[in-house]
Amino acid sequence: MIDALLPLVEKPSRYLGSEINAIKKDLRRVKLRFALAFPDLYEIGTSHFGMQILYHILNEDPDIAAERVFAPGVDMEALLRNSGQPLFSLESRAPLSQFDIIGFSLLYELNYTNVLTILDLARIPFLSAERDHSDPLVIAGGPCTCNPEPVADFFDAMVVGDGENVIRQMAVEWLQWKDEDPGDKGSLLQRWSQIGGVYIPSFFDPQFDDRGFQSLVPRVSNYRRVKRAIVDDLDRMPFPQKPVIAFGKPIHDRLRLEVSRGCTRGCRFCQAGMIYRPVRERSPENLMSIAADSIAATGYEDISLLSLSTGDYGCLAPLMQRLMARFGSENVAVSLPSLRAGTLTPELMQLIRQVRKTGFTIAPEAGSQRLRDVINKNITEKEISDTVADAFALGWQVIKLYFMIGLPTETDDDLKALVALVKNLRKIKGANGRRGKINVSVATFIPKAHTPFQWAPQIPLAESRSKIQWLRSQLKIPGVQFKWQDPHVSQLEGLWARGDRRLNPLLMAAYAKGCKFDGWSDQFNYGLWQEAIAEAGIDAQFFTARARDVAEPLPWDSIDNRVSRSFLKQEWANALEQNLIEDCRGGLCHQCGTCDFEQIEPRTYGAFGEKSAPVCELPPAATADFQSLCVFYAKQDQAKYFGHLEMVNIFLRALKRAEIPVQFSQGFHPKPKISFDDPLPIGIESEQERFFLSVPDSVNPAAAARALNSHLPDGLVITSCQFVTAGFKRQAAGTNVYRVTLQDGSFSEENLRSFKNSAELIISRSNRKGKLKKINLKDMVIRIELLDSKQLQVALAAETGKTLRPAQILGPIFGIHENQIKQARVVKLKSKAPGA
Ligand code: SF4
Repeated sequence: MIDALLPLVEKPSRYLGSEINAIKKDLRRVKLRFALAFPDLYEIGTSHFGMQILYHILNEDPDIAAERVFAPGVDMEALLRNSGQPLFSLESRAPLSQFDIIGFSLLYELNYTNVLTILDLARIPFLSAERDHSDPLVIAGGPCTCNPEPVADFFDAMVVGDGENVIRQMAVEWLQWKDEDPGDKGSLLQRWSQIGGVYIPSFFDPQFDDRGFQSLVPRVSNYRRVKRAIVDDLDRMPFPQKPVIAFGKPIHDRLRLEVSRGCTRGCRFCQAGMIYRPVRERSPENLMSIAADSIAATGYEDISLLSLSTGDYGCLAPLMQRLMARFGSENVAVSLPSLRAGTLTPELMQLIRQVRKTGFTIAPEAGSQRLRDVINKNITEKEISDTVADAFALGWQVIKLYFMIGLPTETDDDLKALVALVKNLRKIKGANGRRGKINVSVATFIPKAHTPFQWAPQIPLAESRSKIQWLRSQLKIPGVQFKWQDPHVSQLEGLWARGDRRLNPLLMAAYAKGCKFDGWSDQFNYGLWQEAIAEAGIDAQFFTARARDVAEPLPWDSIDNRVSRSFLKQEWANALEQNLIEDCRGGLCHQCGTCDFEQIEPRTYGAFGEKSAPVCELPPAATADFQSLCVFYAKQDQAKYFGHLEMVNIFLRALKRAEIPVQFSQGFHPKPKISFDDPLPIGIESEQERFFLSVPDSVNPAAAARALNSHLPDGLVITSCQFVTAGFKRQAAGTNVYRVTLQDGSFSEENLRSFKNSAELIISRSNRKGKLKKINLKDMVIRIELLDSKQLQVALAAETGKTLRPAQILGPIFGIHENQIKQARVVKLKSKAPGA
């Protein structure tokens, strides 16, 4: 049934589940069916590294099948609702309600309404208390669980901290419980509560005093606070070396190497800096080995080094050198995410010259040194301007700067300093003597739980608006682009970040009003949220704009993040006095409470161990003699949903995994030499297509075909490969023949006769530049015949820039409705033309 919906959505490949490295098990043969849910679109969720880790860990166990589900796009959501079909997992397309556990990743508070969308579409009751043994268990993990209270009622259990070990233990407990005590959900929750890092919301009763402060009263003895789970040594943790390679355009479409977890710079606003302590680096040897395995398993063209502060990785320059030496000959680029101003050493600069230039971002956060001292952002104006000057000198033309407004103690002078800083940076010239461009992004500061600023008020909406307006007017400068986060979004995020259990009904009220995808500006509707807040009787200011006393109970007190309250209090006091503290990675411990210095302590690497050595196994591609290889392939079944660019990526990565060397162009951004004959639009199958590759003449075409076939997703099949001359490439069919089969409706013989008897049938269609052009179908339809009432065969002229597809003629000739056309099966038949 889902197949009938796919042709009707904008991006069908989001729902296929047949990506390379996706794992599909027979759900009837496993003991535990686990759905990993991400409450945002496929392109966002597939880019989440944590979900890839959990998918990998769970699927390693033969008794467990982990499948993925993402928030469906609004078009798919509407189709599911209208057709009465429940939401399904990607791999098996099984209804979510048939899973034993659904585990949500909560990364962003404004995804919360999408949790309800997923549960609703899966027909699973929202509230934990309303779900019985016939429903899946609904759990959550991710950074948002460090204040679980605003969404506590929806989850049976929530994981706080690193999930690798916890998820395994929860699965083991579930399997034992299923054998020994099935049906009693309470006994499972009791078992889970014994696992470090697992919070069971129903084991606490919220109570509110006359000031409105929430306290949680434990309902179970010996279960009073939940301590954050920590992985002490990343090298001993499994790494998803075969990550699922998403279709389409995921926001991160590259191999991501998590070089470290945790950042101890001590920025006082930064929740990630507090809830991922201490710094734990992966060893460079391990990273080299992971990179080699992962590139072989994915065929990615880029490696990106992932961490909260990659510039701080102790062994960064040697690691990059080795990665570049090892993978450079395979045309795999190494890219760095944003580097912290002050971490850009001369050695790194030289390396950065050689790697692909991604954007260059600096986050001064505040304009004045005074305010940077308040937030413990240990960078000076000189370091910022030196970094910008270096970046421009190295060839970057645009620098992105991130700032926050509304930080504690901020005054007008701090905003003026921000403007002055941007103006000064704008004066800096690059190597070409031209001044670089500056993109400024501003967001309203949101105090977050478990940070030294958790007691600070968030500035009201009106103040946020006026500050942004003022900055906008001041930064209307040539070469400076100003962007800002919608202050309404910040207000809402602030509410959920520090809310308590009273917000649970608000989420349901907002969802009922239609709130969804609140993090997307095209979907966010603050008016609906205001209505929901008023109707739910929530005083939003109580949670956002109120300065909190350090002695008052906090909604997240049931969570022990390991960073002590006394440290946070001291840091809050230090902020107000503008006292700085240093990064503790170097050995100066500030006793935040996280480390026990037996198992848990900072782990950093200064150099490679003796064992590793740079290797360059492949000969430089430039030394080979190259020839054009023509690859014939069929595009069948669900492969029809791949767009052309998607196809190019799929083939290039399959070539890399199959170890078929491809010649690259010369220049600063070398590109593989590959060209496709006929970029088919989404929805058309084909018995035979072809593309051309430039490969060394030592490649064996038959072996290449075999190798490629073992690395392609369902529906793409290489039928043959052969070396060809340039003349062969030009022999293209002048006519494409298609067979069209309607799933719904029928073809009218009378319409066909009328078309055949007409002198002309003019249609308009837009060309690539968007201009409308008139076409006479009588010139373009070479042959057309009905095979039966539902099937026709048509030959259409195929000229460069003028290729016509069946979808464009069915409406004008037969009056067939757009949705019937989309759902029709269209197959391009193998041509008998030479070379085709
Ligand atoms: S306990 Fe000390 S070394 Fe460990 S994270 Fe905290 S400040 Fe750093």
